[in-house]
Amino acid sequence: MSTSSVWEARALRARRAAVIGPYSPMFYDEPLHVVSGHDVWLTGSDGVEYLDAYNNVPHVGHCNPEVVRAISEQAAKLNVHTRYLHEPVVEYAEMLLATFAPYLDKVFLTNSGSEANELALRIARQHTGATGVLVTDFSYHGNTTALAELTTGLPVKEPLGQHVRALRIPDVVADSRPEHVVLAEALEAAAAAIASLRAAGHGVSALLFDPLFSTEGLLQPPAGYVEGLVALVHGAGGLVIADEVQSGLGRSGSHFWGHEVHGIRPDLVTMGKPLGNGHPLGGVVTTTALLEEFGSANLYFNTFAGNPVSAAAGMAVLRETASRELQSRAAELGRHAREVLDKLAAERPSVRAVRGSGLFFGLEFVDDDGGAGAARAKWVVEDMLRRGVLISKIGPRENVLKIRPPMVFEHEHLDLLVDRLTASLDELEQVEARGGLRSGSAAPDVAGASAGTPDIGVSTGLFIDGRWRSGSRTFDVLNPADGSLLTRVTAADESDVDDAVRSARRAFDGEWGQAAGTARAAVLHRIADLIERDADRLARLEALDIGKPVGQPAMLDVPNAAATFRHFAGWADKITGSAIPTDGYFGRPTHSYTVREPIGVVAAIIPWNTPLMIAAWKLAPALATGNTVVVKPAEDAPLSILALAELVQEAGVPAGVVNVIPGLGEEAGAALVRHPEVDKISFTGSPEVGRQIGRVAAESFKRVTLELGGKSPQIVLADADVEAAVQGIALGLFFNQGEVCAAGTRVLVHRSLYDQVVEALAGAANGQVVGDPFDPQTTMGALVSQEHLDRVLSYVDRAKDEGARLVAGGGRPRGEGYFIQPTVFADVARDATIAREEIFGPVGAVIPFDDVEEAIEIANETEYGLAATIWTRDVSLAHTLAHEVRAGAVWVNGWAAINPALPWGGVKTSGVGRELGWSGILANTEEKVVTIVL
Ligand code: PMP
Repeated sequence: MSTSSVWEARALRARRAAVIGPYSPMFYDEPLHVVSGHDVWLTGSDGVEYLDAYNNVPHVGHCNPEVVRAISEQAAKLNVHTRYLHEPVVEYAEMLLATFAPYLDKVFLTNSGSEANELALRIARQHTGATGVLVTDFSYHGNTTALAELTTGLPVKEPLGQHVRALRIPDVVADSRPEHVVLAEALEAAAAAIASLRAAGHGVSALLFDPLFSTEGLLQPPAGYVEGLVALVHGAGGLVIADEVQSGLGRSGSHFWGHEVHGIRPDLVTMGKPLGNGHPLGGVVTTTALLEEFGSANLYFNTFAGNPVSAAAGMAVLRETASRELQSRAAELGRHAREVLDKLAAERPSVRAVRGSGLFFGLEFVDDDGGAGAARAKWVVEDMLRRGVLISKIGPRENVLKIRPPMVFEHEHLDLLVDRLTASLDELEQVEARGGLRSGSAAPDVAGASAGTPDIGVSTGLFIDGRWRSGSRTFDVLNPADGSLLTRVTAADESDVDDAVRSARRAFDGEWGQAAGTARAAVLHRIADLIERDADRLARLEALDIGKPVGQPAMLDVPNAAATFRHFAGWADKITGSAIPTDGYFGRPTHSYTVREPIGVVAAIIPWNTPLMIAAWKLAPALATGNTVVVKPAEDAPLSILALAELVQEAGVPAGVVNVIPGLGEEAGAALVRHPEVDKISFTGSPEVGRQIGRVAAESFKRVTLELGGKSPQIVLADADVEAAVQGIALGLFFNQGEVCAAGTRVLVHRSLYDQVVEALAGAANGQVVGDPFDPQTTMGALVSQEHLDRVLSYVDRAKDEGARLVAGGGRPRGEGYFIQPTVFADVARDATIAREEIFGPVGAVIPFDDVEEAIEIANETEYGLAATIWTRDVSLAHTLAHEVRAGAVWVNGWAAINPALPWGGVKTSGVGRELGWSGILANTEEKVVTIVL
């Protein structure tokens, strides 16, 4: 969910709690806030569509248009008390009874399933003169006073009534004994219960049961059990009530009503809200004899049950069920589902059995000892919510996943369900392999739910075509400061990437491609405004996700991102061409001019070190020039870019202009780069990946901007201000844990200052405060991941092996989190590994030089060429050296003096092309020349 909708949902939840209280439970703890529904989909307040695979109440689909039409038409015409004569109720009763065996020929209408059961029990009492009731254990039949006394296993305070006996339903799936033994034992238990009711003077008035045993966990009794039970009850003079609130209307696939599955003849059938597709409508279907007997002795009517509007809803449901052949479709889809789910269960030791039939399934979870896997079921239900699929769990041990979608479920929905379920079960296995389910065993909520952690509440889906959506898989986002799981983010797969690119293409071909520069400027300013508004939150997200001290993004990344949007807002209406005089065309004068046009769809692939800032560097110029963008954040640090996508949405950027698709490089990144509809790729990252991108891009002549890091020198000349130089060098080494492409990691020092600088740098390293990114004292946080930490540590080992002198750090400060000490090596050989390769960590290599020529030689003997710093007071020398250093940027007497107005990019392996400033405009446009022969 997006942040704004998380807050909205939480606020609504608080309002609900204030007026409804906490005891009217909801399906999900997470504040899912649904605002609309259609077919098998529910839409959250954030625009995410959830597949409803749980809710049988909207039998013919959420807000089914035929039902809505029937209700609207009837509501506009007439809705009255049921004591008026009107046709709809009669017509409905006729239609409903036509679905039953002919002996069930009368109906009492009610508003709900509970009311229906209550009435059915009264009818049974009146008929039998007895009070005893048999119910099935752990089934739910409603919550009126009388029904509460019948309900076992639910948090209902009323004790089971003295007149009630609960029967445990035998289950041949869980019971390994021969079926006839199970059957005999269960029927004996039923006979004993009847005997006990009689002995206590209650007699037997009724058996109340749900034919699909759904709340008990979709149990499978032995053949003949239900028939035997019915015979026993009838033999004892009692009536049989089949509670069809969950099982009727074709759901079982094989029969229209659930009791027909068992070939029995109940005396009463009770029904609830699916009858009206969720509108208040229920009923008790019975025989003429029972109706006469009850009706003649009791005043029974219900003031509004079967009112014209409910009846109209009921008729539309029956018409839809018949015309769309929902029962036979449920049977067919059910068979297929059963095959697929059986296969899925067979491959997983955590799933013992698939239960149910038709469009009503359960997946029974076991734990490793074969006991009930309630924690696993709970985890999967919550994880599936994150994947955009609603299912639930049932059974006395809450270990059965309940899948009971609206009857309009199609193959494609089943495929999606199975896909997501497979992914969820895969992930469950991984989570367990990593150390089992955590306390509470729930899938993690967005971070911030637990006390002490910053409240991030950021969207974790894919932002495509202006909407948030889930996908088939997720990846974990870990907190580098302690290795804990922060949240899970949806991983885009190839088809998601395709959707995103197509949406960007549509947006480009549509209004955005034609939008005036001033309109684009306004959009960019709005994004900048929102970044400034949310500066604190964005800085915290960066700190949380990357492990950097929160003060650093607050000082640099976030203000720079806002400034970048503002800078390019300024350009958006000033992208001009030029008029070029020529000597004409075949003697005729000409008028030639150039225009700069957007390139099209830009793929922006963002690194994890300063994601928000670099996303702004790519997005702002692309948007200013009228391109549309698909942004792929790094899997190690997607959170601030997801937050940026929320701001893009809030800023009213037209759908498809900016799409954000978190995912894995090898899958989503690769698919994006390959995509034929992508016109330009802007990538910041490693040379290896840059090379691959360049190769793929060359195939289809995609434009590329590649920024691939560096091994930047800091040259301290003999006349330098040493104090300022040391300060700047320390910043260049340790800022952002050294995870900076422009990090000044090759410290070249004139021999006259060498010892002094080495000592001062060691002091600066030891003076860094390494620790909690949220502690204001901290100057250096954790590295982004365990993998990266290992890589950086391997460079430290290598430097030691190669004979460099360690003067500070070199180890890890503490066990938890991916921390490393700020590290300085002196006497590093010019050809040592740490003098040449990019480490991307807080590791400096100090190298002495004797004269300026040598300094330049060392500075240039690297394959990289991103930036360089020169520390000198000699203006002339500064300019001369600035010329001679091969780099995209040279700073004199300062490190990383970056600004959105200044071009950014490298030479040699550091990359191709420039971003920012006017160069950013050039990099995002194609130049066209128009010549008019006058
Ligand atoms: N019986 C069964 C089997 C039910 O599932 C339910 C509730 N879904 C009821 C009765 C009670 O119906 P209602 O909530 O309409 O009162």
